[in-house]
Amino acid sequence: MAIPNFFKKLLFSRQFFYENGKFFLMMKVPGIILPMQAFTSFVHQYLKDGGEKAIEHVYTVGHEQGKNAGKRYINISNTSFPGFTEFVKGVAEVMGLGKITAFSQEGSKIIAVMNPSIFAETSRELFGKTKKPVCHYIRGIAAGLFEPFLKYDTVCEETYCKAKGDSMCRFVIKKR
Ligand SMILES: [Zn+2]
Repeated sequence: MAIPNFFKKLLFSRQFFYENGKFFLMMKVPGIILPMQAFTSFVHQYLKDGGEKAIEHVYTVGHEQGKNAGKRYINISNTSFPGFTEFVKGVAEVMGLGKITAFSQEGSKIIAVMNPSIFAETSRELFGKTKKPVCHYIRGIAAGLFEPFLKYDTVCEETYCKAKGDSMCRFVIKKR
């Protein structure tokens, strides 16, 4: 499915741009375009060597990035739940992470289902099936994105992951 039009307009016209040989991401910080295989390979090796500390670090980096993006969106747009989840879906697609096929609320929890989930699928292709979920960067982004919207600290757990052989990646965002 195509990226929603409003999001294309918002992100590509104002948030992503080239200037003086630099490529700027939506947080107006310099970025690069990286093949998913390279990114997956870097993260895989880092997690393999670094254990729990590395997991926490990858999560924290995603969290900071998501929080900045969420803040920027809240500053320029309305903050209804459907509007915000459309924004989050757009972020996932624009970043090339995959497609969020469903958002739901269970009590105070927010649940997001991602399929395809490109990082997890690439991880499985390159390194085989895992015992645990691998999308620590994405769950960090998810928790960070929702914090400015919910106005409290959140954590995100991944309960299903395509890298484990599940049919989707599933993220549960809840109050910290
Ligand atoms: Zn996953």
